[in-house]
Amino acid sequence: MADRIDLMSTLKKIGVLTSGGDAPGMNAAIRAVVRSSIFYKYECFAIHKGYQGLIDGELTPMTPRSVNNIVNKGGTFLKSARCLEFRTQEGRKKAYRTVQKFELDALVVIGGDGSFTGAMIFQKEWNVPVIGIPGTIDNDISGTQFTLGYDTALNTVIDAIDKIRDTASSHNRLFFVEVMGRDAGHIALNAGVGAGAEEILIPEEDMGLERLLDSLKKSEKSGKSSSIVVVAEGDKTGDNVFEIASYVEKNMPYYDVRVSVLGHMQRGGSPSCFDRVLASRMGVFAVESLRNGDSNVMVGIKNDKMVLSPLEKAIKGTSKINKELIRVSDILSI
Ligand code: ADP
Repeated sequence: MADRIDLMSTLKKIGVLTSGGDAPGMNAAIRAVVRSSIFYKYECFAIHKGYQGLIDGELTPMTPRSVNNIVNKGGTFLKSARCLEFRTQEGRKKAYRTVQKFELDALVVIGGDGSFTGAMIFQKEWNVPVIGIPGTIDNDISGTQFTLGYDTALNTVIDAIDKIRDTASSHNRLFFVEVMGRDAGHIALNAGVGAGAEEILIPEEDMGLERLLDSLKKSEKSGKSSSIVVVAEGDKTGDNVFEIASYVEKNMPYYDVRVSVLGHMQRGGSPSCFDRVLASRMGVFAVESLRNGDSNVMVGIKNDKMVLSPLEKAIKGTSKINKELIRVSDILSI
């Protein structure tokens, strides 16, 4: 449940942290939280290394100048961490002692659904107001159309696929490109359409190996000499991208089949303009929402408007893929 609390009169100090998987745009969001806090006359403390820093008391007071020259940087300068201790009551008790010691009145947590789960439990146990900013390249959080880092990751992926296409088309090569997305096919689907992939395999739909083979055979007959298939990590068609590729290779000896796993490069790089603007808006909106007395919510964007949704909904809901893109991809890959 989202809460409205009487923060307006008590809010003086805000803590900000990044947690879980890093994503481009997190730095721009930290900058926005720090500067808007100070703009509204609050003190702002940076918490280093996510929840671990909260447990260990690794906090630094921020000034507007502490966040100079980071709007354009990938990763998170506060560092992120996966913190097992925060999953225990004892760990969260230590974290609360830090909150008391630094007299923090609210926390802004920039991260994914795991980080929000931790934030929600912490808020329930110790009644510390929290607000989430969704930062994950997978775009798999409900309550927002876009998460921080997603747009940058898409641009990184299409850039990589464009390069792969150059080599694919110079030979009779069929490339299987694995992209991130264990549970969600947003990256595969959007980057696949953007890069003109022949087929796109995602966790949400099981296409079946026979259909994939039929489709590739049709393309070969229609004169295509090279093709690119984008495969999300969590695709259900085969066990993994190497197995899919070897199955296709056995059945289509004409092609020289290759696999490229893009991996962690998708998480890095300078954030796109879209992600910087989104991070800036989300950071300002997070502080303004605390100022309005909102807590236990996540900021998001819908139809270009800033919105709030309960953290619980953000964690439990599913972000649906855009089925229109599957249709568009099918039409365009003839
Ligand atoms: P993400 O936020 O990217 O989904 P994780 O799932 O790794 O990343 O979560 C980040 C951190 O959030 C964890 O390392 C842990 O400290 C905290 N966390 C996640 N789930 C819980 C939970 N059920 N209870 C308490 N803390 C949690």
